[in-house]
Amino acid sequence: MNHIVGIDLGTTNSLVAVWEDGKPRLIPNSLGEVLTPSCVSVDEDGSILVGKAARERLQTHPQATAAVFKRFMGSDKAIRVGKRDFRPEELSALVLRALKADAEAALGTEVSEAIITVPAYFSDAQRKATRDAARLAGLKVERLLNEPTAAALAYGIHQREGETKFLVVDLGGGTFDVSVLDLFEGVMEVRATAGDNFLGGEDFVQAIVDAFCREQDISDKLRNEPRFAQLLHARAEQAKRTLSESPTATLAFDYDSRHYEMALDEARLDTLCAPLLARLRAPVERALRDAAIPLDELDSVVLAGGATRMPIVRKMIARMFGRFPAIDLNPDEVVALGAAVQAGLKMRDQALKEVVMTDVAPYSMGVEVAMQLGDGSRSSGHMDPVIERNTTVPVSKVKTYFPTSPQQTKVDLNIFQGEARLTRENIYLGTLTVSDDGRPLGQQPIDVRFTYDVNGLLQIDAVAHGTGTSYNLLIESAPGLLDEDEIAASLARLASLKIHPRDRLQYRTLLARAERLYQQLRGDTRQWLGMQITGYEQVLDSQDSERIAVQTRQFTELLDHVERQATILLPNGETQ
Ligand code: AMP
Repeated sequence: MNHIVGIDLGTTNSLVAVWEDGKPRLIPNSLGEVLTPSCVSVDEDGSILVGKAARERLQTHPQATAAVFKRFMGSDKAIRVGKRDFRPEELSALVLRALKADAEAALGTEVSEAIITVPAYFSDAQRKATRDAARLAGLKVERLLNEPTAAALAYGIHQREGETKFLVVDLGGGTFDVSVLDLFEGVMEVRATAGDNFLGGEDFVQAIVDAFCREQDISDKLRNEPRFAQLLHARAEQAKRTLSESPTATLAFDYDSRHYEMALDEARLDTLCAPLLARLRAPVERALRDAAIPLDELDSVVLAGGATRMPIVRKMIARMFGRFPAIDLNPDEVVALGAAVQAGLKMRDQALKEVVMTDVAPYSMGVEVAMQLGDGSRSSGHMDPVIERNTTVPVSKVKTYFPTSPQQTKVDLNIFQGEARLTRENIYLGTLTVSDDGRPLGQQPIDVRFTYDVNGLLQIDAVAHGTGTSYNLLIESAPGLLDEDEIAASLARLASLKIHPRDRLQYRTLLARAERLYQQLRGDTRQWLGMQITGYEQVLDSQDSERIAVQTRQFTELLDHVERQATILLPNGETQ
């Protein structure tokens, strides 16, 4: 049978699912997990690692590892991984190939066609880049599916009679997306989208970290020590997840012979995260206003994204709508499940049709600014968006900026595109210099206008208030998409890469995790773990499958223990 798989190609994680016996089923990867981190790393021997092993290496080998490349789809940003530059399509293709291999292993047949999901606000260029990634991975994609539509399909909304209007709320690791959808006579239309590019599950972890540092009187110096920061971050993430299942959680660990502990419950988390929860409201209201649909006309609310597992988020959404959203499915799985539903419908020639809107600015575009911190110092390199991603085009917006010092004789306005907080992680577009023939600009404000049109042309106009002089810059931000020759070249390049063997990925992932823990530890414990790693490597070299299976289980338990404890009882009875 010819299987069409459904793929959620996500920013943090990707999933693959299949339609089977009348329902969608998620397919686990070679580690037995349904979430495959969208990370790619180059191993010491030059082979490519995808998924969890690559995510572990993000900490130990950041130069040889790439993540969050979905943010750059549709642009020609070169992403350096080890000794090579990759395009975002190529990195996405490597993730898709891994998912394809997992599906083929599970189904026992070749998989050559997929339904792949994309955010509703993805532009033409971003959609084309996603299709190219699929081609590079050897997958045929007839049509892409909007993520909110997929979430709706997972909940069977397409089976309802008559017109249905509903809202999809997607809170992932780093972004918040709201879509208002309308299903009428078998056609799904995205009526409006809104979002916050700087709000996601990660911010809730930061809120816990901040509260912990305040409560425990942690100095800035300690807070910035990488090992302490990593440990605290991991414990905060864990506590956040625990609170999704139980009423209380304890965040505890030892560091430099001091014990740290903080108790959390839902009420406390709710207070700590109140400013974040309040930020969920504006995009929901904006999307409903843009769609001209009053709240009481909505038929349902669908949750997507791992962070909507948090009860405080669910309650906030319930308060906004006066009823509880549907929560029968895991929110981080609904998009992939929905893609498989569409695949099932397609196999029966009943695929749901969509109206796709692509007349939006695909990325945020803005100016690099310095921020004044509480203690009077300055932090530079921050992105200040002027046009937010997802704004309907054509659009023209103006913001006012000031020189950082009154003696300044010129201001270089560095223009960037992208969703990251820091400009170094975004794409540089150009610089517009404002200067008044060497005279100090003083504290006079500068109005900076961004105008973006349907052809992807960005015009920047700056007017210095004092002199009234205007300056301008035209940026052609139509990103270089691949043509046929480039696709052929890219296919050849990818074919020459050595992919880490799938059947050994489990062991490689375990070693990558052990290496990360090794770097986090110190002293005797670290030395002891180093010996365990060498021992395990020797077992792997032995090719004795029974011994490898036993030792893998034991080594996993050992690492679980190390991760849980941070302080380990050494074999001779000492502690770290
Ligand atoms: P996604 O991009 O959909 O994979 O969402 C990832 C985000 O969901 C991360 O910030 C996770 O911390 C968060 N997340 C995943 N599982 C849970 C959970 N059980 N409770 C709270 N947050 C979670």
